Amino acid sequence: MPFDLQKLVAERRAEKFDLFDRHLNSQLLRVLKTIGFDADYVSAEGPYLFDGDGNRYLDLLSGFGVFVMGRNHPTVIGALEQVLHGKFPGLVQLDVSLLAGLLAERLAARMPGLDKLFFCNSGAEAVEAAIKFSRTATRRTKIVYCDHAYHGLTYGALSLTGDDLFRTGFDPLVGDCVKIPFNDPEALERVLAAGDVAAFVFEPIQGKGVNIPGDSYLAEARRLCTKHRTLLVADEIQTGMGRTGRFLACEHWGVEPDIALLAKALSGGFVAVGAVAMRKWIFDKVFDRMDRAVVHGSTFSKNDMAMAAGLATLAILEEEKLIERAADMGERLIDGLRQRLGGFEFVKAVRGKGMMIAIEFGPPKSLKLKAAYALMEQANKGLFCQLILVPLFQNHRILAQVAGPNMPVIKLLPPLVIDDEDVAWIETAFEDAVRESHSLGAVWDLGRTLAGQARKSRPGAA
Ligand code: PLP
Repeated sequence: MPFDLQKLVAERRAEKFDLFDRHLNSQLLRVLKTIGFDADYVSAEGPYLFDGDGNRYLDLLSGFGVFVMGRNHPTVIGALEQVLHGKFPGLVQLDVSLLAGLLAERLAARMPGLDKLFFCNSGAEAVEAAIKFSRTATRRTKIVYCDHAYHGLTYGALSLTGDDLFRTGFDPLVGDCVKIPFNDPEALERVLAAGDVAAFVFEPIQGKGVNIPGDSYLAEARRLCTKHRTLLVADEIQTGMGRTGRFLACEHWGVEPDIALLAKALSGGFVAVGAVAMRKWIFDKVFDRMDRAVVHGSTFSKNDMAMAAGLATLAILEEEKLIERAADMGERLIDGLRQRLGGFEFVKAVRGKGMMIAIEFGPPKSLKLKAAYALMEQANKGLFCQLILVPLFQNHRILAQVAGPNMPVIKLLPPLVIDDEDVAWIETAFEDAVRESHSLGAVWDLGRTLAGQARKSRPGAA
């Protein structure tokens, strides 16, 4: 019998969670079931997910920031279909790829000074390449990164990730990586002054926490890196491709990095990809002789599906003016959330740029709320957020997530295609969920349950 994927999916759909539990990550499944996020999604379009009962969910997680163009965009599907039906001679390896050349040309046009591109298969792989290229190009070994940074989970990338939760248990990590505080130019100057730093790797806006730098920080970082001959490496894997209202978030501060990293959205939401854009001299130092032409690479990099998805995504950004839209809608959403949530005691700040938005919570002033908040915070620093996220999902069908481990911050990464109605949906849902959390009503039963479970699952707990 010929292979029939649709038939297979229809026959086995009911076993989705059982199969995952048996053969994949049972702890993730436990988390989903505990907070009631184990929905049975059957389809997706634009910013929406749909379950088997036809309910529509607004996805503000975007697959960790992948779906800037929304899900199942017809232009991306069309491009991929053309590759599939076109019998393209892909992955010849002893050949060069036209699609890779075209995508590189279009990306380079978006990033002045970064004329050379290296393609790979994920964000973490882009970070790995940046570490290797920086070391080779500068003949130095030290890499500087920021506290709270997130650059991925392979060994090099993990060695630049500032959160112990991800690092614990995986020692020893890559050597000669030095952590400094984010947004602290003096600390950067001190570490660069020794003249032995290959690269300063940073996120223009940190994904974990949505931490936005001070007005002069990135320009100062640029100046210091130039002065000390250190490469300035912008990890724009989450912030890039228009998410913050500019193609690269660095543009907000008028800064041109030596290397910029892209991944996530470049995939069109379908084909894993990563890109390292850099100055030509850096590339030429790495690939400096014919016998080193393949000194760094990967079998599936530059595959036709990934390149076509990237080209289609860039076309969508332009045709639908999504970058301008992110700037405009994002500003309205941030303003709206500030107005609707500003008066609530648990809400400390609403911040963001474009469609990268954070809502930060903190201890309230009034005594009766203080004790309730403390119960959650003592169990786990970010646990309070679940009292907003769970009702947001269950009562309003909005999917969102905390901005990182152990922080009372919710992060919104909406697809850039959301419209006025979606903005109103988000504002109303947040206001309702935040108001409910202040009433100390039914949602706090959930709070007590989650706090109990969090205490039990601590290392060393009986
Ligand atoms: N860098 C940043 C800023 C990220 O946000 C991520 C992923 O969330 C990565 C790197 C790693 O990308 P990937 O998950 O594709 O390896």
